[in-house]
Amino acid sequence: MHDVLVIGGGNAALCAALTAREAGASVLLLESSPREWRGGNSQHTRNLRCMHDAPQDVLVDAYPEDEYWRDLLGVTGGLTDEALARLVIRSTATCRDWMHRHGVHFQPSLSGALHTARTNAFFMGGGKALVNAYYRSAARLGVDIRYDAPVHSLELRDGEFVAARIGRERITARSCVVAAGGFESDREWLSEAWGQNEHGEWLADNFLIRGTRFNRGVLLKNLIESGADAIGDPSQSHCVAIDARAPLYDGGICTRVDCVSLGIMLNRNAERFYDEGEDFWPKRYAIWGRLVARQPGQIGYAIIDSKAIGRFMPPVFPGIRAETLDDLARQLGLDEARFMGTVTDYNAACRVGRFDHTLLDDCHTEGLTPAKTHWALPLDTPPYYGYALRPGITFTYLGLKVNEHAAVHFGGRPSRNLFVAGEMMAGNVLGKGYLAGIGMSIGTTFGRIAGTQAARAVQETNARERHAGV
Ligand SMILES: Cc1cc2nc3c(=O)[nH]c(=O)nc-3n(C[C@H](O)[C@H](O)[C@H](O)COP(=O)(O)OP(=O)(O)OC[C@H]3O[C@@H](n4cnc5c(N)ncnc54)[C@H](O)[C@@H]3O)c2cc1C
Repeated sequence: MHDVLVIGGGNAALCAALTAREAGASVLLLESSPREWRGGNSQHTRNLRCMHDAPQDVLVDAYPEDEYWRDLLGVTGGLTDEALARLVIRSTATCRDWMHRHGVHFQPSLSGALHTARTNAFFMGGGKALVNAYYRSAARLGVDIRYDAPVHSLELRDGEFVAARIGRERITARSCVVAAGGFESDREWLSEAWGQNEHGEWLADNFLIRGTRFNRGVLLKNLIESGADAIGDPSQSHCVAIDARAPLYDGGICTRVDCVSLGIMLNRNAERFYDEGEDFWPKRYAIWGRLVARQPGQIGYAIIDSKAIGRFMPPVFPGIRAETLDDLARQLGLDEARFMGTVTDYNAACRVGRFDHTLLDDCHTEGLTPAKTHWALPLDTPPYYGYALRPGITFTYLGLKVNEHAAVHFGGRPSRNLFVAGEMMAGNVLGKGYLAGIGMSIGTTFGRIAGTQAARAVQETNARERHAGV
């Protein structure tokens, strides 16, 4: 029997496994995917949001704790636990040394629509390189790893972990960390959570999953049904508008289309429906999936002109290109007259000041509903481009309630030996909204806490048994 069982194979699970092993525990990690698909959503990531009081290797200026906290408070509208959030924020000031020791390297922010040079440290080689580095480190330290190992339920006694089950197999350990992601890949559960709109459409039928197909929420459901305290709303998630041509799973980062704040967004009736320039893109990109989900047919169309080219990260699929606006409408299959009416109204309402995409500039619309409050430039410079966009679910926020020790709670009482990390508890910090890079901040912080606590629980059990002469 191993001391610590870690269930999951992404960032949070690996951080937990490494930390528990460093604390002297024997560790078994169970990853449901085959080896070549290991790493969950973490393999698709690019960066980690970090507080810092002075410039660091790859981070410019400063990003103090209170600014980070205010940013989080803003996007969540207060749906966050301040103590846990600050724990995450503070740990990002120092966790990169630990990550570096396990083979993760960083590079400065890439240029593009995300204003991240100050706030986000990018992984050299992306999340896949990070995950591979952690797996290599885990193997070197003697963590046992099993792939193709989907756990379907946990055996619990009075809120304590006893064993995990894979089919008929029963795997015991003295403590356990669950870090098995959200339920974003369970399409039935998504349908249940998002329901139908007034047109009788099941919203989730048109969703794409940006990450792994293996995060099906099996253990989340199992634990909630077994009495674990849940937190968060099942319909809240990180949901981005992505290219409608993206694959159903694992399209990853390159299917994101980052030009929304540089142009206008229309629904299939060729109407605008939200302020495209409300705030900086890293603080707003994760609301657009939800906004598109609420539109008829769950589809949106981002429209830009050639002034926007070079100002955002080029997406993997080229946009539909046209020399005239009416031709663009035709190619996108939108009603030409309505499209031209919307663009003409928008162009006429633009009050152009000093365009600066790195600031909340003074280019805005007047007398238009909805307004575009920044970066409003008329669409007047061909060629024009359009991208059809669908809601792309990144991860869901329904999770398990935790305390600062990452303990799973049952009826308000923290478990002695069952801990949770990553997406499965991110809802404690992120009730809604998103800040780019905070997913990995939460997973890294709580993964390491969970690993430490799981190892400590083993020591306490051992001490108790020694004392009792077992
Ligand atoms: C395209 C994309 C880009 C992203 N970019 C960023 C970014 O740049 N920065 C950032 O902070 N966040 C980003 N995120 C979010 C980030 O991926 C998550 O917040 C983070 O990876 C969560 O880590 P995790 O370990 O909890 O989950 P995951 O990495 O998804 O790991 C969950 C693991 O559990 C395994 N598993 C699931 N069920 C079971 C089971 N029953 N038994 C055994 N194993 C199971 C899965 O196979 C998987 O390996 C991105 C997500 C996506 C999809």
